[in-house]
Amino acid sequence: MKRCYLILTVLIMGIIFSSTSVFAESANELDEKVDELEEEKNQINQEANGVESEVNETEGKIDENQEQQEETESEIEVINSDLADTQAKLQAKESDIAATNNKIAETEDEIAKTEEEIQELKDEIEALKDEIKELEEKIDSREELLKDRLRSIQQNGGNTSYLEVILGAQSFGDFINRATAVTKIMDSDKKIMEEQQADKEKMEENKVAVEENKEDMEEKQEGLEEDKQDLEDTKATLVVQKQELDGIQVTLNDQMDDRQNLMEQLETEEEELHEHKMSLAEEQETLQQQATVIEQAKKEAKQKIEQLAEEQRKEEEEANNSSGGPSDAGVQSNNNPSLSAGGNGSLAWPAAGTKTSNYGYRSFDGGGFHYGIDIANGKGTAIKAVADGVVSRSYVSSSYGNTIFIYHPELDLTTVYAHLNSRGVSSGDSVSRGQQIGGMGDTGHSFGDHLHFEVHIGGWKQHNGVNPLNYLP
Ligand SMILES: [Zn+2]
Repeated sequence: MKRCYLILTVLIMGIIFSSTSVFAESANELDEKVDELEEEKNQINQEANGVESEVNETEGKIDENQEQQEETESEIEVINSDLADTQAKLQAKESDIAATNNKIAETEDEIAKTEEEIQELKDEIEALKDEIKELEEKIDSREELLKDRLRSIQQNGGNTSYLEVILGAQSFGDFINRATAVTKIMDSDKKIMEEQQADKEKMEENKVAVEENKEDMEEKQEGLEEDKQDLEDTKATLVVQKQELDGIQVTLNDQMDDRQNLMEQLETEEEELHEHKMSLAEEQETLQQQATVIEQAKKEAKQKIEQLAEEQRKEEEEANNSSGGPSDAGVQSNNNPSLSAGGNGSLAWPAAGTKTSNYGYRSFDGGGFHYGIDIANGKGTAIKAVADGVVSRSYVSSSYGNTIFIYHPELDLTTVYAHLNSRGVSSGDSVSRGQQIGGMGDTGHSFGDHLHFEVHIGGWKQHNGVNPLNYLP
């Protein structure tokens, strides 16, 4: 504003003294101009210093953010390797449990088989017992039969023995007959009895063998039952170990979630820190280009005022005209029915769309200040100059993307349009209110198609934007 008054003073003095002394006027003007330039240079230097400390501060924040990200990443790596380790252990446990289950099943099969064998042996023992009993009965009845026969022989021969039977022969032929008969009876009885005795002994041996076999089998079954119990114990231990590992895995997963959330937050924060940060070199270049354009614009504005003053003087000299109303500098209507800011309306909306971010502090911790507003809409949506002015810079910035700066001399404001898809104007171009200057885009540090719009009083300065809503209808 000071500079404005300075220009006006120079202008008025110029008009007053123009008719008296041409030399004085140009000398005066030159001095004033030198002073003005000197002042502007000082101001630029001051601005550059301020900017440098702001950039340093942002860079510090970015460094801090980067350090935190690296730390979190290495924590994630550790958790990842812990997780891989735990998963490998879990897999080993699971295969151990599967193997133990197989062994248990095998052992159960064997136990079942052994039980069957024991049952078979028991049946065999029972069968042998029956057979032995049968044989004993047979031997008993045979003995009984022999006794009967002997008794009948003795009865037949009175009180005689076999020998008496033989000796009682009437003739040699009778003797032979008698001896043969007795021998036959004796031999056959003896043979039968011997055979039966042998059978019985064999059966008994067999029974002992089968009983031994059964005992062996029962021992084996006991061993198998013990094996099975051991396997069940092993399995129970493995299951407990697996549960512990599951618990560890859950904890690790939770830790991982925490780290990933932190990482996302840090990344968002980094995006925000990067979004509207210019390098010192870029900033100084912008300030320099802007200074040249603004100087020129002011010069032109001054000429325009001079011209108007001249015209007015002529009109007054003629003194026969009614007053011409001021040009249509009145209130402009809202050019954006979907958005309403309620400001003074000295600027028109730069684009149609949805306001996705306000001027002010970002919502998250350490998010910094947002020096403009964001308007989102489709790619290529028309971006319009918000007032008459001159393009003070049109270029591609690594952070702002395709960017246009417009200086509005009548309002002494600068407006900034960032992340454009295309630029339709160049530095030094004059633009009028509502003129399309480019299309909406997603260039630079941007996340989705949107317009980042800033308003600055006087020239542009990094982190010096004021709330655009105060100027929008
Ligand atoms: Zn923005």
